[in-house]
Amino acid sequence: MSMTTNQIRNAFLKFFEDKGHQIVDSSPLIPANDPTLLFTNAGMVQFKDCFLGIDKRSYTRATSSQRCVRAGGKHNDLENVGYTARHHTFFEMLGNFSFGDYFKKEAIAYCWELLTEEFKLPKEKLWVTVYEEDDEAFDIWVNDIGFPADRISRIGDNKGERYASDNFWAMGDTGPCGPCTEVFYDHGEDIWGGPPGTPEEDGDRFIEIWNLVFMQFNRHKDGTMEPLPKPSVDTGMGLERIAAILQGVHSNYEIDLFQHLIKSTADLLKVKDLDNKSLRVIADHIRSCAFLVLDGIVPSNEGRGYVLRRIVRRAVRHGHQLGAKGIFFAKLIQPLIDVMGDAYPGLVEHKELIEKVLAKEEEAFARTLDKGMQILDQDIAELVANNSKTISGETVFKLYDTYGFPQDLTADIAREKGLEVDWDGFEKAMNEQRERARAASNFGTDYNDNFSIDERSEFTGYDYTNQNVIVTRLLKG
Ligand code: ATP
Ligand code: MG
Ligand code: MG
Ligand code: MG
Repeated sequence: MSMTTNQIRNAFLKFFEDKGHQIVDSSPLIPANDPTLLFTNAGMVQFKDCFLGIDKRSYTRATSSQRCVRAGGKHNDLENVGYTARHHTFFEMLGNFSFGDYFKKEAIAYCWELLTEEFKLPKEKLWVTVYEEDDEAFDIWVNDIGFPADRISRIGDNKGERYASDNFWAMGDTGPCGPCTEVFYDHGEDIWGGPPGTPEEDGDRFIEIWNLVFMQFNRHKDGTMEPLPKPSVDTGMGLERIAAILQGVHSNYEIDLFQHLIKSTADLLKVKDLDNKSLRVIADHIRSCAFLVLDGIVPSNEGRGYVLRRIVRRAVRHGHQLGAKGIFFAKLIQPLIDVMGDAYPGLVEHKELIEKVLAKEEEAFARTLDKGMQILDQDIAELVANNSKTISGETVFKLYDTYGFPQDLTADIAREKGLEVDWDGFEKAMNEQRERARAASNFGTDYNDNFSIDERSEFTGYDYTNQNVIVTRLLKG
């Protein structure tokens, strides 16, 4: 019997607890007191000040399973969902941390022991990358661990030019950062992709599982790098990716947790084909949306609330594509609780609130979605008849302005159908609208707000003293 995702989470934490690490609860998705970050996107976020030496704790070694959202900001995987086997908007990052305690040698040794002794991964399927100048890490892998040098690639800090890999990790544009070494798993030659450091690495054959960051610098706004008071370690392994390996499947969406969400969605929508891409997207999106609401976000027209709104609307659109009539998305909270409620009791405690917030947003959008889709389908039919491949900016604007289609939603549909979007035309239509609005009134130019549910809710704040965030927002009516 292979391990369940819940067992893997516990086994990871236990392994590091036995090595003197303090188990620390996941922090909320909204970084406390950090306006530089949209969402918590890595395990180190709650420890940022420990690395900077500002925050002193009673422990110098910690381990956690951190809930993360990567939808917007420096690390944004929203557009990857539904297209790769390994990306989610919401995922859990397993991590071990050293605050000026151990450094490269121990970090690599722990990683190797966990992967090959505890989890018993076949050594010959593992590949490694190191930062190109980091001879020390290279030597540890080769001399201490005995890892074959021909499966180690040296990779620089990719400033977007080279391949996807980047062995200099940073949380955001500023803050703690440093060189890293990463471990990849080869899922086999039936799957397209190449080893890290090759042009084919972005395929799904060689999947990155663990990143060990050697925190050494604090990057400032002007780009200067100040050495940290004490070199530290920050690691992150995707729980769903290691679960896929340990459960003998290729895609994260095939693991126990996702299969439950996918089957529940398929039952609800009476879909037979469990491989349908829309089911995977919905299963991904219910996790990010549920946890964003749990952590205090409501759909709105700006900032974090707008990211949430966009994700909900994308999910609702996929549901309607599968034939959903009426509310379905909010009904997935129970299946989510089935698989994640034990690890996150807040989901159970705030179930009704989460359902209510999501159902309101879903209802509001469902009212205009069908009409908007009709207009888009008509437009696309005309395009195809005229041998064109570009959806006009006017259409995208109308969908946005009148039917509540965020731009990325229309872009997602265009991508599915192999079409382009005239973004310049869209900008032009937006500007014309702004002009008209300015001429007509003294009020601001806040479009698209007839869908807002904010006026029905009253935000009263988070309680960060309790690791289980208490959402004290009250829905009126
Ligand atoms: P990738 O190159 O596959 O996009 P990454 O290099 O962006 O991953 P890191 O920032 O190094 O990822 O994060 C540490 C670990 O978290 C990764 O090695 C991976 O296991 C996991 N991870 C990162 N992004 C995601 C995601 N969107 N969904 C699921 N797991 C993820
Ligand atoms: Mg990435
Ligand atoms: Mg990577
Ligand atoms: Mg990485």
